[in-house]
Amino acid sequence: MTISLKAHGQTPGDASADQMRLMADLAERYGYGELRISHEQNVILPHVARADLPAVHAELLRAGLATANVGLLSDIIACPGMDYCALATARSIPIAQELATHFQAQGLEQDIGALKIKISGCINACGHHHVGHIGILGLDRAGVENYQITLGGDGTETAAIGERAGPGFAYDEVVPAIDRILRAYLDLRTDGQESFLQAYRRLGAQPFKIALYGEGARDAA
Ligand code: SF4
Repeated sequence: MTISLKAHGQTPGDASADQMRLMADLAERYGYGELRISHEQNVILPHVARADLPAVHAELLRAGLATANVGLLSDIIACPGMDYCALATARSIPIAQELATHFQAQGLEQDIGALKIKISGCINACGHHHVGHIGILGLDRAGVENYQITLGGDGTETAAIGERAGPGFAYDEVVPAIDRILRAYLDLRTDGQESFLQAYRRLGAQPFKIALYGEGARDAA
């Protein structure tokens, strides 16, 4: 089973000492003493018997470790960015936190469904933004944070590098920009079964560029 370390509004991938002790204890009691840290910044607790899942879930719930968002919008990979990394050109973590809380407040996360947002705070790309369905790359533009958005990336067997959507956005513009992309997706998808990536592959970048930049993007596309 996957234990999400992506509670809405918290730093993606962080766990307290108490939470880590609990997960280690659960691995001893319900698994084979094994935990794995995924590149998605979550924890895998393998070998748990199906019958033990309710008991494990109850303990995770008490410890604030039962956020049911694995594979959804707020299950964001974010690098340390400007908050912790000396190489950073922009913040990553606060963008992830604000995206998670924004869409939680909008009540749209479950409706949007499967989505991988990945954020890097510089071109070293530790957040794997190139392969995010929506990638966010924080850069420095004349001393001010500026964020490039890429669309259509995929890190699975159907791998693809995301396509840069267009000019970057200021820090405060990033969440509204992602909101416009995802509302366009909700309007354009065939039904709730068509994921963002599937819709992007069917429709191409243009409708999402128009959502981002307005009708002027139609001529440029
Ligand atoms: S992508 Fe850049 S800012 Fe983020 S952890 Fe890597 S080196 Fe640091």
